[in-house]
Amino acid sequence: MTLSIGDLDGVGEKSERLFRDLGIVSAQDLLDYFPFRYEDLREPTQAAQLGNGARADDASAGEVNALGRIIAVKERRVRDLEIVEVRAQDESGAFVAKWIGRRRYVVGRFREGMRIFVRGRLERSLGEPVINVAQHRVLGDDEAYHGEMVPVYRASKELPSRKIASVLKKNLARLLRLAGEDVLPAALLREQGFGELRDSYRIVHAPSSPEEAARARERFIFAEFLVLAAGTQLRRAHREAEHDAAALRVPEELLAQLEASLPFVLTGAQRRVIGEIWSDMSRDVPMNRLLQGDVGSGKTLVAAAAVLLAARSGFQSALMAPTEILASQHMEKLAPLLMPFQIAVEPVLGSQGQRSRKAAVDRLASGEAALAIGTHALLTEGVDFARLGLAIIDEQHRFGVEHRARLRAKGGAPHTLHMTATPIPRTLAQSLYADLDESHLDEMPPGRPPIQTFAVRLARLERVYAFVRAAITRGGQAYIVAPAIEEGESGATSVVAEMERLKAEVFPDLRLGLVHGRLPTREKEEAMQRFGRGEIDVLVATTVIEVGVDVPNASVMVVLDAQRYGLAQLHQLRGRVGRGAAQSFCIYVYPDDRHETQRLAILTRTTDGFAIAEADLQMRGSGEFAGTAQSGHAELRFGDIARDFELYTSARRAAEEIVKRDPRLRAPEYAGLRAALDATPSAHALLASS
Ligand code: ADP
Ligand code: MG
Repeated sequence: MTLSIGDLDGVGEKSERLFRDLGIVSAQDLLDYFPFRYEDLREPTQAAQLGNGARADDASAGEVNALGRIIAVKERRVRDLEIVEVRAQDESGAFVAKWIGRRRYVVGRFREGMRIFVRGRLERSLGEPVINVAQHRVLGDDEAYHGEMVPVYRASKELPSRKIASVLKKNLARLLRLAGEDVLPAALLREQGFGELRDSYRIVHAPSSPEEAARARERFIFAEFLVLAAGTQLRRAHREAEHDAAALRVPEELLAQLEASLPFVLTGAQRRVIGEIWSDMSRDVPMNRLLQGDVGSGKTLVAAAAVLLAARSGFQSALMAPTEILASQHMEKLAPLLMPFQIAVEPVLGSQGQRSRKAAVDRLASGEAALAIGTHALLTEGVDFARLGLAIIDEQHRFGVEHRARLRAKGGAPHTLHMTATPIPRTLAQSLYADLDESHLDEMPPGRPPIQTFAVRLARLERVYAFVRAAITRGGQAYIVAPAIEEGESGATSVVAEMERLKAEVFPDLRLGLVHGRLPTREKEEAMQRFGRGEIDVLVATTVIEVGVDVPNASVMVVLDAQRYGLAQLHQLRGRVGRGAAQSFCIYVYPDDRHETQRLAILTRTTDGFAIAEADLQMRGSGEFAGTAQSGHAELRFGDIARDFELYTSARRAAEEIVKRDPRLRAPEYAGLRAALDATPSAHALLASS
């Protein structure tokens, strides 16, 4: 449907612009612009029942309706303030309707004997119930009151909900005629007991009861989830149907050889997960597995095991990380693990000189190097592999779908391992990673004392810094993290300003370093490296140091303005310390006037990243979560996986069945679903290929 909002009745040039400001461009957008609540004007409450909480339900924001005949009118004006009090009664008793405000235009309107309907908030009062009137209607003498459910839309100052509702009402029949094909196949519609598409749209915008509205809304949420889930199922089915990956043979003694090369024994979780990965890699269906593990759980070793198996069968591997810092760190950690097996590692970085890039490209093309570690630079043209068998993607949610696909395209159908230290709540994981198999390192290597965590008011900052100084005197190092780079109107603590203050007043005698996103990569890297070598005592930084950075000697993490971060991110930051043998500390500092104790207490109580992520999800909703933007979740208009989890589960089940029955969605009943999927680029490609 290409009808524009400007083509509708009642939409002039000016309101067209106002609609656009609300993101409503096409007529379909308007149809999909759902009310966020309804005012229930259906039935007045008996005066005698008012104040008994009879109909003041939450959905209507505590408002009540009443209908009565006026028995007294009191009017006053105080400057331009109108104060009108009307006493009215029905057969059960009396109530008072009250208007107070500027420009209410109600003075002189009411007379004894008139019949009046009012809606508003019920005020506490000692005698008769008092209604603070939000809207009213004067009724003719024998006019019956026909109230309705009035939709309330998110509006702007110039384009009030009333206007949106009136445009919808005026054009509803036409809009409904233009609505596209239903995403839900008829059989599924019946099975789920949802209403027909046009009826459901009509009900959402003009329901006759709250229950009916809620049910109609569910069908749109369900349909949206069905599209999302069908897309994922298609990807999975497509992958499973390919038998073009190299089925690697796992030598019997390989695990023992790996273990023999290490100064420690594998954790049970590492052994189990390596088994899962190797078993995937021994199939001719390309592996697509997500390795989840909290910071410090030992993912590097698991990645090394995957690289080792590939190399044993003569296949190369590529590991892609989101930043140069992380890529370099993987180099440093993987190279020694792989050295005993004569696996040569080659860096591919954007900052690399031409000469060293050319050398790397040559060694990868010839097959001499068995592992490339790099950033997006790996995706550049000219970086080719002799025989790529394994693609590893670190912090995969920081790459888009197309980046991940481009890395895989460097080989035929390489096995793919995604890694993340960002715990995703289980509820979300089911939808975000529906086309991935999951492995979870749920056990920490022994020997590291758990990090001690504190939440502290800003008033005690000087004591926190004294604590930092003491740790440094003992030979440790510390991070101080703040949210902003420069000072700005947001009022957030800036690393640049805090750095100046620390240098001048707090730690003039210590070696300080600064890292933030606006510094040139080279400078950032240098500061990080110097911190890693112990040449810097205190690293002042924004969250650029968030994920993966590993300096075992750092034992104190201070996070300023902790109230500005989500729990999951605070947990991530904490993971920067506690990586050595010494006792580590994490201190979250929050402003004196904020009530953060309860929220931060979750972090002081537990170090289980999944529990924290789940709590974060409950507090903030799924939109904020890492990875949701890349997965289509951000485009969900009606549903929220966390909130509507049951609907999601049944939509996913339905999608599985549909894709199993008809992997190309050729049957006419799937035309609507197919059309919706066609609008999403990745699914489009799958449907088009035959
Ligand atoms: P992650 O990448 O999951 O954050 P790493 O792979 O960097 O964690 O491992 C964290 C630290 O634990 C590293 O110093 C690593 O050498 C060490 N480590 C890994 N596995 C074990 C183990 N089984 N026993 C003892 N130490 C381990
Ligand atoms: Mg790591």
